Formats: sequence, structure tokens, C-alpha cells
Amino acid sequence: MNQTEKVKFDTAVNNAVHRYMREKKSTCMYPGCEMEAINSHSISEMSSLETLNEQGEDRNLLAPKSRMAYPNKSMLIEDCGIPHASTFKGFCKLHDEMFARLDQSGIKSEKDLFRQVFRSLSYHVFREKVIDVIRPKFMEKIEKEKLEDEKLHGEWDSQIAKLIDFGCSNAAEQINKRIEILDKQRLEVKRFLDIMVDTHYTYPLTDFTGPEIPVYVVYKRLGFQVPVAVNGKISFTFGDGFSHYVILICMPAENTTDFIIITDKEFHAKETEYLAAIVNDDVYILNLIERFMVMTDEWWIKPSIYNNLSEERKRILIEDLYCYGEGLDILGSYDMSIFDELRLQLIDELPDHRRLYELQKIYELPKRAELEERKKKIQHKFNQPLFSFEIIG
Ligand SMILES: [Zn+2]
Repeated sequence: MNQTEKVKFDTAVNNAVHRYMREKKSTCMYPGCEMEAINSHSISEMSSLETLNEQGEDRNLLAPKSRMAYPNKSMLIEDCGIPHASTFKGFCKLHDEMFARLDQSGIKSEKDLFRQVFRSLSYHVFREKVIDVIRPKFMEKIEKEKLEDEKLHGEWDSQIAKLIDFGCSNAAEQINKRIEILDKQRLEVKRFLDIMVDTHYTYPLTDFTGPEIPVYVVYKRLGFQVPVAVNGKISFTFGDGFSHYVILICMPAENTTDFIIITDKEFHAKETEYLAAIVNDDVYILNLIERFMVMTDEWWIKPSIYNNLSEERKRILIEDLYCYGEGLDILGSYDMSIFDELRLQLIDELPDHRRLYELQKIYELPKRAELEERKKKIQHKFNQPLFSFEIIG
């Protein structure tokens, strides 16, 4: 494909996705309901997104332009109107009411927390189904490029060809399996939600590990605002052939932030201590939020935070986004600071070696290989089901 064809292709896929998201009639995801779903937020508009608004009636946040449609296009961080941020067609008008309490006053009870967990899981099931619709278009393009490359160079790199063929044949099946598992957990969360009551208030830090809960959930109310809303999910395998995931939810309010991690019980069992260490330390939490920001598309940032980054840091962030932060260390920290001001506030009490490490992220630029080199390395991952990463270990 030449450059013009590429742009045309990107636009066509973008339009298709857009149409699908906007126009497709979706059925309500409430168990047993057949009504048509309306557009609604997965992160509360009034109690959370609005607290990041700096533009009065314009009501814009900044968000990465989705790469889901087609991963070769250039990454952008651009305006996203608050009315569109984090929305999906998940529930009918009637059943969207189950989140009314959450939308009005945020997380007050444990039941509110699980309302949010249910809503986020629903969002991700919905999103995965959308990707499934886009996928054939992407594969079509790969095939086309493969043919053109063969014509041009006589042969297609056999290693890449093998990976792509493997990806194609397995992708649909694996995606369906993954959606099925996630949806099953979602419905189990719903059943658990049904027996909960609103009189149990949340503690500022609680985790839920009981056998009656199908997923592991940990919740922390942070005593400061993290100026980004996140509802991101990372999927991966760790050599057991099964698909695992971590969902990170960051819901800022005026002076606090609700931080939630949802993961499968197997991954929690494997990383219990590590996860506990993270949630007990606000700087580690900030690090994880930044880490998720370079690995997922599902975030909406307060505009001044991004705009105040130097041009060099913006470029690094965008290139890292393009490469999914290389996708190796999913619970690690990002080596460049996005939230300088907040970081400076939080690190005051840290021991010297940690404080210096955090300061480096603000005052030094991380080193990166050439983007073209990185693209080559990351390319074959795009052909795996949902661009997931295998974690060895
Ligand atoms: Zn419904």
C-alpha cells in the first residue's frame, strides 16, 4: 500500500468503527433484558469526569485516539468531549438507572463499588465485541500488504508470515473464548451485587477475596485527585495458555480518587504480595496508573496536564503508546513522569533512593530506540488475538 492508500484505508476503518459504535443497535446487557441499549458512561460524568473539566462549557478532556481500528496509524492525543468520554451502549434506559446512585454521589457503599465493577466489566465485554467486528478489516489489510510485499521483494519474511498465519487462525476462537469467560464473570458479579446492601460503607482500603466473588477486587480511596480517568484493561497469558486480565479503574473526584483493580483470581494468587505492595503505596499506585496509560487507550486526562508536558515528553509518550509501552512489565512503573506536580507532592516523605528515582522521571528523558526499530519489534504482536502480550515467568 502506498501512503495515500494507507490513509484511505485508515479512514475507511475509522468510519466503520464510528458507525458501528454510534449506529449499531445494541441490546441491553442486563441479564434477561431485550431492550435497546442507550449510550452511557462507564465512568460517571458528573461525579468524576466533570471534575477534570477546565474549559467551562466546552467540556473537553484529552484522550488517545483509539488504535483499536488499525494499529499502523500514527497515534494522537486529542480532544474528547466529556459527553463522549468512556461511553458505550451497554444498558437500556431502565437498567442504566441501576448506576444512578453511583453517578450522583460516587462510591459510598460496598455495593456502589460492585456497581462500578459490574459496569466496567460490561464495558470491556462490549469493547471486545467491537474489536471482533473490526478485526476482519485489519486482516484483509495484512493479506493485501503481504501480497504486495511478495511482489516487491520476491518473498515475504517467512518468520512474520508464520506468526500472522498463526494469529489469524487462532484469533477468532481465542477472542470468543475470552469474551465468554469475561461475560460469565460479569454475570456472576451481577448475582453477587443483587444480594449486597447499601448499608455497608466502604473502607478507604478494602479487598474482596471471598469464594462468593468470581473476581478479585481491591479498592482504595486516595486522599488526592489523580487528574486522569482510566478504565483500562490489559490482557495477557503467562505461559499456562489461559488468558488473564487486569482492569485498572481510576475515578477522580474534586479532592479524592477512587482507585480499583479487578483481576482474575489466578493472577491475584500469583501476584498477591506484589499487588498488596502496590495498593499500600500511593506512589506505586501513581506509577501503575501511568503504566496503564501507555498500555491502554481507555483514559481521559485533564488537558493542562498533557499540554504542560514538554514537546519531547509528548513525543515519547505518543511513541510509547504506539508500542503499548512494549508490553512486558504490566505491573511495573512507567519510566517517565506524566503527573509531575502530584508526584512532587507525594514523594516528599519517601526514602532518598526512591525519591531520586521518582525525580529522575521528571527531570531526565528516558532513552528510546528509533521508532522504526521499535515498530518492527512490536509488529507481530498486532496479529495476535487482541494484541495481547505473553508474560514469561
Ligand atoms: Zn435493560
